Amino acid sequence: MTDLSLSGPVPDEATDGVWLACIECGETVAPFEEPTYKCANCGSLLEARYEDYHDLDAFSGSGVWRYDAAMPVDDGVTIQEGNTPLYEAPTIEAETGVADLRIKHEGMNPTGSFKDRGMTVGVRVAERIGVGRLACASTGNTSAALAAYGARADKETLVLLPEGKVAEGKLAQASLHGATMLEVDGNFDDCLDIVSELADRGEVYLLNSLNPFRLEGQKTIGLEIIEQFLDQTGDVPDRIVLPVGNAGNTAALHKAFRELVEAEVLEDDEVPVLTGVQAAGAAPMVEAIQEGNDTVTRWEDVETRATAIRIGEPVNAPKAIPAIRQTGGTAVAVEDEEITRAQRDLAADGIGVEPASAASVAGLRKLRTAGEIGADEQVVCLTTGHLLKDPEAAAAAGSDPQTVPNSVSAVLDAAGD
Ligand SMILES: *Cc1c(COP(=O)(O)O)cnc(C)c1O
Ligand SMILES: [Zn+2]
Repeated sequence: MTDLSLSGPVPDEATDGVWLACIECGETVAPFEEPTYKCANCGSLLEARYEDYHDLDAFSGSGVWRYDAAMPVDDGVTIQEGNTPLYEAPTIEAETGVADLRIKHEGMNPTGSFKDRGMTVGVRVAERIGVGRLACASTGNTSAALAAYGARADKETLVLLPEGKVAEGKLAQASLHGATMLEVDGNFDDCLDIVSELADRGEVYLLNSLNPFRLEGQKTIGLEIIEQFLDQTGDVPDRIVLPVGNAGNTAALHKAFRELVEAEVLEDDEVPVLTGVQAAGAAPMVEAIQEGNDTVTRWEDVETRATAIRIGEPVNAPKAIPAIRQTGGTAVAVEDEEITRAQRDLAADGIGVEPASAASVAGLRKLRTAGEIGADEQVVCLTTGHLLKDPEAAAAAGSDPQTVPNSVSAVLDAAGD
């Protein structure tokens, strides 16, 4: 039985009021002694737990470390991540016909994706544990973030990438920040299998979202959304729609809200409904939710233009399935054409995102059309990465430049009146 309750006695393993607990069997683990990613007892996922959970008044400053009171360490390896904008999107709001729509644009982080929020915490914990080489499997953005934060911490970084399936901007970042980049003849899930094995052998410290400390940083997306939405509208949003790859954010947002309930900031029935969106060519999580399963079955063959969510086995499913169910949410699959249309729509409201990010808006449209999202709802769509991450996809979704002769009249002719 998955146990996501946060209250309970402080175990002997706790350090500074922090420990790890297995979400299935309750086994507790010391947080900073040696790298631990899964329960040694039953193999399920671990989650950070605290002696104290804080209300919003406990927080000051800006960005991820505004929430230091809710973090496992006092400070991070920081490049000033977080504090991303919560935009209005008037055209999409009017067209989909919801009461309120805001876009939480995580592409505005230092390396252009939300992965920075996890790395500022995870790389700091790596320092505290005292590990050597840092590593991840990545569809691109995790490698860009790990390369940057590893460089900042002066640590060696190793990234495993599915060959030919990583967008150009992300490769450029990992390259310039000095990661050792290995392209594997396989998909993301194969890369994660390999790097997990390296972590089990003690060769590397794993910074995929299997790492419970990364999700503590990503939890701040949820805390920021609550604070910003309250500030802009006076309300807590009814629903958050987000792209799902490994389902780390789905789990992390739920953790943020469970902590706010524990701190008596939110009532149980005020917790936003979590709604996951996957690309139709990589939708194992949607399959599990729609079929009422408690586990996901790995899809061996996955394909989508939204390469950041081209994942066949979401590792955080044991956390994310209860997150979606307990908040009364759902999961939906969208076609690549629907994703590209949403990418254009966001661009028309001035918001530039990569394809995976636009999946949230595509999912909103689909569920609103089906009547599953109501006209009275206040909704936040999460956009996870910046347009420049995947310039090729952006150019393909946009229009081509026209070549003109070198003269004012030719330019005027071509530009029209
Ligand atoms: C990593 C990533 C995702 C997937 O997020 P999960 O937390 O693994 O579900 C979605 N979009 C972008 C742009 C990403 O980089
Ligand atoms: Zn266990």
